[in-house]
Amino acid sequence: MQKVIIIGAGPVGLLLAHYLLSRRNYQVEIYESRPDPRLAEQSNQRTFPIALQSRGLNAIDQIVGLKVALAKKGVWSQGALIHRQKGQPRQINRKTPSLLIDRNQLNLVLLENLLEKHSQELVRVKFDCSCVDINLETQEAILQPNNGESFTTKYDRLVGADGVRSQVREVLSARGDIECQKDFIPDVYKSLHVPRITPDKTIEIAGNYIHTLTLSKGIRLVMDPQPDDWLHGTLIFSPDNNPLENCTTDEAVLAYFKENIPFIKPVMRLEDAALLRQRPISKIMTVKCDRMHVGDRILLVGDAAHAVSPSIGQGCNASLQDAQVFAQCLDRYEDKWEEALPAFTAERLSDVHALRELSDYSFPRSKPMMLEFVFRLTIGKKLRPWFPLLKNPLPMELIMEGELPYSEVLKRTQGWINRVRESMQS
Ligand SMILES: Cc1cc2nc3c(=O)[nH]c(=O)nc-3n(C[C@H](O)[C@H](O)[C@H](O)COP(=O)(O)OP(=O)(O)OC[C@H]3O[C@@H](n4cnc5c(N)ncnc54)[C@H](O)[C@@H]3O)c2cc1C
Repeated sequence: MQKVIIIGAGPVGLLLAHYLLSRRNYQVEIYESRPDPRLAEQSNQRTFPIALQSRGLNAIDQIVGLKVALAKKGVWSQGALIHRQKGQPRQINRKTPSLLIDRNQLNLVLLENLLEKHSQELVRVKFDCSCVDINLETQEAILQPNNGESFTTKYDRLVGADGVRSQVREVLSARGDIECQKDFIPDVYKSLHVPRITPDKTIEIAGNYIHTLTLSKGIRLVMDPQPDDWLHGTLIFSPDNNPLENCTTDEAVLAYFKENIPFIKPVMRLEDAALLRQRPISKIMTVKCDRMHVGDRILLVGDAAHAVSPSIGQGCNASLQDAQVFAQCLDRYEDKWEEALPAFTAERLSDVHALRELSDYSFPRSKPMMLEFVFRLTIGKKLRPWFPLLKNPLPMELIMEGELPYSEVLKRTQGWINRVRESMQS
């Protein structure tokens, strides 16, 4: 029995634990710096919504019962409604529905299901405990509980699933074992939560569509319906165009939304505006590594290895897919990590690098390209049989439907990606 230490109980760390334990020759210990989500109060549970499509859902579906358990905590979306300041929204229907689920709920279900299925001898999860260092020579992780003395623990294999600010990656990079590039994307965001239905139940915002609205200067709102009749989402903007900068009171924030984002007007209340005003502005870091493993014993997965901009909502889908692809490598090489690890890097790196480019340049920023984008996703799609110029799909269409590898999506849509990149540079 091999002992695998996983750093980080986020979506990919937990799903990988499911995959490893289902192989029956691993014992898994997970260390997570945040508190146990089972003990957190419901009111503190809201983070941001994640939309899962076939790549993420298929990775989850390989573990018996997981998809059904997750679906109970999420909402199925048929597509997106692109709202406008005036007029009816444009509707984009998808052949395959997406599952919309709050990040904390996703983690909670993955965790509870893991602990229900496997005994304490096989899996242990320690919360409030951060990995601060790794000694690759002695095969030890150095861990620091929030309250208490640091300690070391031995591993046979170690997985860095500790997200965009991964300490595992930092240790490997400081040793020169891995090269990685970190950047901040030009946009920042604030989380917003509003009820989906008015208190008198006379007006409701559609519960089976993602709602988006783009304003001038690249300001965007994306709101996902949640099962408790709320909309959770993010207001995205560039730091030098903060739409709320001059809103010094809650009333001013509410007035801004009512004037500029009409679809939300009936449901947004003063208390929602107050909470939005209090929330910090979050920056988004991206990460690009030249490999996803080091030696025979260390694996790097998820945001730790390839954090991307959330603009096309693929970071979590790709992270969950990492777990599935690595399990397939273990199958192929009969659990010989010395062969499975390089095979994983060889198979996965081109896809996650392609995802980076797709995330940066699928979504246009200039007004003319934005109009073209909406036209091609709505009316243009219907006109395709008669107008060969419209025959090439946009990256979003190939990403949202099916499981074409990201590198193949990039190859087929390189023309659009180049145009968006050029429009951003100019
Ligand atoms: C606003 C926003 C919206 C998004 N929407 C989508 C979407 O719609 N669809 C989609 O696919 N993706 C989306 N994403 C991306 C998605 O959230 C991430 O890609 C995904 O969470 C990555 O999972 P992970 O397990 O790799 O990392 P994380 O979710 O970051 O989990 C890492 C875990 O490691 C823990 N940790 C960190 N350091 C240490 C340490 N030293 N020791 C121990 N534990 C540690 C952290 O506390 C955390 O729990 C969105 C991201 C943002 C910011």
